[in-house]
Amino acid sequence: MKVRYSYLPQQFGEIDDLWEELKAFVPTGDFTLGKPLTEFEKRFAKLIGSKHAIGVNSGTDALKLALKAIGIQPGDEVVTAANTFIATVGAIHEIGARPIFIDADDSFCMNVDLLEAAITEKTKALMPVHFSGYMTDMNKLMPIAEKHGLPVVEDACQSILGAIDGKNAGTWGIAGGFSLHPLKNLNVWSDGGLIVTDDDEIDRHLRLLRNHGLVSRDEVGIMGYNSRLDTIQAVVGNWLIPQTQDIADKRIANAAYYDKHLSEIAQIRIPPRIANMRIVYHMYMVFAEDRDALLRYCLDRDIEAKVHYPIPLYQQEGLKQFGYKAGDFPVTDRHSSELISFPADQHLSREEQDFVIQTLRDFYAGR
Ligand SMILES: *Cc1c(COP(=O)(O)O)cnc(C)c1O
Repeated sequence: MKVRYSYLPQQFGEIDDLWEELKAFVPTGDFTLGKPLTEFEKRFAKLIGSKHAIGVNSGTDALKLALKAIGIQPGDEVVTAANTFIATVGAIHEIGARPIFIDADDSFCMNVDLLEAAITEKTKALMPVHFSGYMTDMNKLMPIAEKHGLPVVEDACQSILGAIDGKNAGTWGIAGGFSLHPLKNLNVWSDGGLIVTDDDEIDRHLRLLRNHGLVSRDEVGIMGYNSRLDTIQAVVGNWLIPQTQDIADKRIANAAYYDKHLSEIAQIRIPPRIANMRIVYHMYMVFAEDRDALLRYCLDRDIEAKVHYPIPLYQQEGLKQFGYKAGDFPVTDRHSSELISFPADQHLSREEQDFVIQTLRDFYAGR
């Protein structure tokens, strides 16, 4: 049995209703900042529980423009997680700011106990990353941010509808960034992203930033960017919005099924499942003994397991300029050698999950 990682052919295989909507939309020619975009922004804001949502052309730009909108300047320090996807660091770097890394804990997010020691005079913002569908411990982080007067921009790209105490990822800080990339939980057919905020002034600023700073057709108010979310992707987004809760629920159910069975294997360790946290499992990851051999064993049996990530981000060649060296973040290092990811998406069948579980049992049976 093949257990694929990408479910996009299944997700977008039979979508006659969406094709009808696209067919109706295209002849309107309303391609930039059109009506479906405004509708999508409203529905997304409602889904997340924020006052505003602003569509932009990627998750990376969502983070970059949010930092820009709160006044981050070249040379400022932005404290973030050492084990994130490169896009977080790219967004910070693009506006000339400097990423300061914090090690993870076994929830794959920033260990907030290490945060205060990393704050300096130059620190101007915090960018916690809600990695893999978990959330950073925001109940602990927000009081530290307030104590130091630091704005918080959440990287919620992997945790749409993740929540702590019922409060969604992206709504804790001054702004939150989301990605609509095809591999994310709410996925359009191209790059895309959104920023959510409750702040009217930041909302206004972001709408200028994403559209060349244009106040009107003829007036430029500020220097901005071309970073609009394509209206045609907003049509796809509007089609997906009603499914988003269900997508999260199915992933949660699939993860619970894996947890139940994989926890019976002595060589597998399930990460801590946190009682007041809704984990949405953008990635389903466990700690595995003999990880590299297990990965090969799975791939040989057509299970597309993955490692997120084999090379810790802070050790990558392209990040040398930030001055970190191997060993600076021991938990992140350990994760890169112990973690393995399995598909847990909404299109995965029970049979496929059973095959993964049995394959892991078989692998460890001889050991
Ligand atoms: C996907 C992602 C982003 C944004 O990526 P885009 O591809 O630009 O949409 C940012 N941070 C994290 C942690 C991500 O996984």
